[in-house]
Amino acid sequence: MIKAAAVNKFFGDLHVLKDINMEVPRGQVVVVLGPSGSGKSTLCRAINRLEPIDSGDIEVDGQPLPAEGKALAALRADVGMVFQQFNLFAHKTILDNVTLGPVKVRKVSGEEARTTAMELLERVGITNQAEKYPAQLSGGQQQRAAIARALAMQPKVMLFDEPTSALDPEMVQEVLDTMTGLAKDGMTMLVVTHEMGFARKAAHRVMFMSDGEIVEDSTPSEFFTAPKSDRAKDFLGKIL
Ligand code: ATP
Ligand code: MG
Repeated sequence: MIKAAAVNKFFGDLHVLKDINMEVPRGQVVVVLGPSGSGKSTLCRAINRLEPIDSGDIEVDGQPLPAEGKALAALRADVGMVFQQFNLFAHKTILDNVTLGPVKVRKVSGEEARTTAMELLERVGITNQAEKYPAQLSGGQQQRAAIARALAMQPKVMLFDEPTSALDPEMVQEVLDTMTGLAKDGMTMLVVTHEMGFARKAAHRVMFMSDGEIVEDSTPSEFFTAPKSDRAKDFLGKIL
């Protein structure tokens, strides 16, 4: 579903993605781990072209990344993205946040968009927040609204970049539970997270990045019990 081949990315002299080859097959949940600055966010951003790459190829659902225009808008609609900061529209209600994309981009009728939005808000457990504004919600509720908003576009794949890092500890689990539910429903997901419990339980594969490279790509149990590289051992030593 996502395929990157020989992808390189520089910021000036800094080589942040070094010949990245990776694949996320349909229905798989891949967790990306790695130290700060290793290139995890850049990889996510490259996949929906928020960040242009310098060489290599990225495909989503068999289609090469379009550079611009309508094709790029379509790609962005197919790739749902959830960030650390929730990025909801502050001056719109939660319901409007969720219906906006489908109405504008997918050309769905307002009524249909609202019906779907209420179903999605139910799925993430916040139907009672539909008429409120983002600032009136807790962080965990806002992040679940952001997930509902991404899902409203009927994405083929969801990218999560540290979706729980900005949350108070007591709200982390409700967001992880929502993500676990999505994973169980068969969504293709690439998840950057420091939540090792989620990686162990929900991931089919763990990719460990260090210094712009994918150093390990294995099952969670392999990675956590028998990391191969010194860099991964060092990383696990610091976080576990
Ligand atoms: P973290 O765990 O802290 O989020 P990360 O693995 O997501 O880190 P990236 O944000 O992908 O790391 O950054 C990779 C490298 O690229 C870092 O050295 C970072 O300083 C650099 N970098 C990221 N964005 C830019 C930018 N817009 N301009 C210049 N350098 C950047
Ligand atoms: Mg990051």
